[in-house]
Amino acid sequence: MIKLHDKYFKPFISAKQIDEAIERLAVDIANDIGDEIPVFVGILNGSFMVVSDFVKKYKKPCEVTFIKLASYEGVKSTEDIQRLIGLTQDLTGRTVVVLEDIIDTGNTLAEVHRIFKNEKVKSLKIATLFYKPEAYKKDFKLHYVGIEIPNKFIVGYGLDYDELGRNLPEVYQIKETQHMTNLV
Ligand code: 5GP
Repeated sequence: MIKLHDKYFKPFISAKQIDEAIERLAVDIANDIGDEIPVFVGILNGSFMVVSDFVKKYKKPCEVTFIKLASYEGVKSTEDIQRLIGLTQDLTGRTVVVLEDIIDTGNTLAEVHRIFKNEKVKSLKIATLFYKPEAYKKDFKLHYVGIEIPNKFIVGYGLDYDELGRNLPEVYQIKETQHMTNLV
């Protein structure tokens, strides 16, 4: 168990499980994409580790870029998403694969779709390492999903709790507060 700020987290997904899930994503995407040279777009900050490990396992030519959005405060997703760094390259006619660390409510994904609406991309695919089906509220198709997880807050492997925990090579799940039963 680890403590970050005021909360406790227990081991949940090992570095090996993460590695295997990313390997599967890389192989599946490479098979589907054929001879195209895709542009992988990572959503910062959380996706920096996924993107780094993913592109090393993607054994064909590709381009990599990032956009930066912000939607999380502490352990709660907010509707209010800010675009901090936008797209800087022309994606006209390109095959774009968005690489997400985690899809929770889908608010961030909705913003991603808004961003790409005006780009004349050839195709837009969504890939995510982690996915919380119980929390997902949107209809956008998720083309590639690494690991489905329950609707509980996680940290590690790029994901933070108030900026701590991003550097952990494995993933931890928040430990629910133990309510003391009054036996008097
Ligand atoms: P959504 O917009 O789908 O609700 O959430 C997407 C973003 O919220 C992710 O890119 C990630 O930054 C953050 N997020 C969602 N769920 C979690 C979680 O369980 N832990 C952490 N640390 N961040 C999360």
